[in-house]
Amino acid sequence: MTLRAIADDLAADFAACGPLATCQRLALQPQRAGRTVAIRCPWHDDATPSCTITIGPERTIRAHCFSCGESWDVLSLIAQVERLDIKSDFRRVVERGAEIAGRHDLLARLQLKAAAESVRQSLTDVAAVVARLKLSAAPTKYGVAIACPTGQHPGPCYVSRARSGVLWAKCKACGWSGDVIALVGAVRGLEREAAVQAAAEIAHVQVRPRVATPLPPPPPRLVRPSAPEPTYPDREQVLDLLGACVRVNQDEQVAAWLASRGLDADAVAIRDLALALPQSAALPRWARFRGRPWTDTGHRLIVPLFDSQGLERSVHACRVVDGSTPKRIAPAGHKVAGLIMADTMTRLMLAAGRWPEWAIGSARVVVCEGEPDWLTWAVRTPLYRCPAHAVMGIIAGSWTDEIAAAIPRGAAVVIWTDHDQAGERYATQIAASLRGRCSTLRGAIHG
Ligand SMILES: [Zn+2]
Ligand SMILES: [Zn+2]
Repeated sequence: MTLRAIADDLAADFAACGPLATCQRLALQPQRAGRTVAIRCPWHDDATPSCTITIGPERTIRAHCFSCGESWDVLSLIAQVERLDIKSDFRRVVERGAEIAGRHDLLARLQLKAAAESVRQSLTDVAAVVARLKLSAAPTKYGVAIACPTGQHPGPCYVSRARSGVLWAKCKACGWSGDVIALVGAVRGLEREAAVQAAAEIAHVQVRPRVATPLPPPPPRLVRPSAPEPTYPDREQVLDLLGACVRVNQDEQVAAWLASRGLDADAVAIRDLALALPQSAALPRWARFRGRPWTDTGHRLIVPLFDSQGLERSVHACRVVDGSTPKRIAPAGHKVAGLIMADTMTRLMLAAGRWPEWAIGSARVVVCEGEPDWLTWAVRTPLYRCPAHAVMGIIAGSWTDEIAAAIPRGAAVVIWTDHDQAGERYATQIAASLRGRCSTLRGAIHG
């Protein structure tokens, strides 16, 4: 088994465990977001998890950092985490990976390979080897001739030093050939492993015992829950959908809908708050309402939704035409808990994990409910002025303790949920989750 084959076997092992368990094995703190697992990138100084761990097209673990813009396989990931150089120390990387995965069988193979290599390097004296094997040998120009080690016929079998310096035996009569370990094995009738041991004794080489140190037990395999809990949509599909969108001022229908809400499409577009989904866009499976694509139902105003780390995880879609479907919807079959709409200031705050130092004054956050209110607030800050507050948009069910914890301590928070029963309840819930950390103020109707 070559080193490459062992490495492939190991990579398959990690793939079979899946991205989440791979992160746990490597003690990387995974953030679960939908089907995607993200970690803080080990290749750059990463404040937020920008490196996704997925199963790549080759059905193996793939790490992809959106900041570095690069992808790596699981062995590169192990090397990076373990501070090993994969080029010069590939063997050690594979060994470390096998230790982490608890693959004793692969470790044994690696040790056997290492032992065989040191034996080959030690047994380079032709005359000494044939003497130790008690073989009758006739000297030749390059080494010696012996009887064929297969014992089937007299030979001759030539034993000499190859250009690489190691011994090589080749039978002129039957074509049998092999290194010094194969020669010892053939002469003594031993399997490969026993042949390495026997050759090591001849060479006076210490072969390490099979397993030098006790290994930690392998981590438990992930058990699939019977009813999967709702997740966020696949992050790459979300990014693809956002990538397929155009600016809101480039789509007449979307711009007209914004205008009907008293919103200027240019003001929304320039602040990068929302996008327009083109009628022709190819949609992922979840961009549907009861089987009808959003392009068909008219849900074409797309607002990206961010998690508490400031990463785009999902989208929310508003219907910009008349119809009987809900005015605003989230991806079918996926959750929105923990996701919010974020203006630039909110995105910066979430990504940094604190209120930006360059901001004017202390932390001020406005929390609005629903797209129209959120957009109205978010376009208020003139572009030429440094924003003094972050405008966060929430939808039903999106507020969580995680989001609350992402608002900096000491911040003044204005809560602008709808002035109806549900909105009041939501406001109370938000205020309660911030109690003791932030001061809260309930936005007035005509504030
Ligand atoms: Zn990176
Ligand atoms: Zn032969």
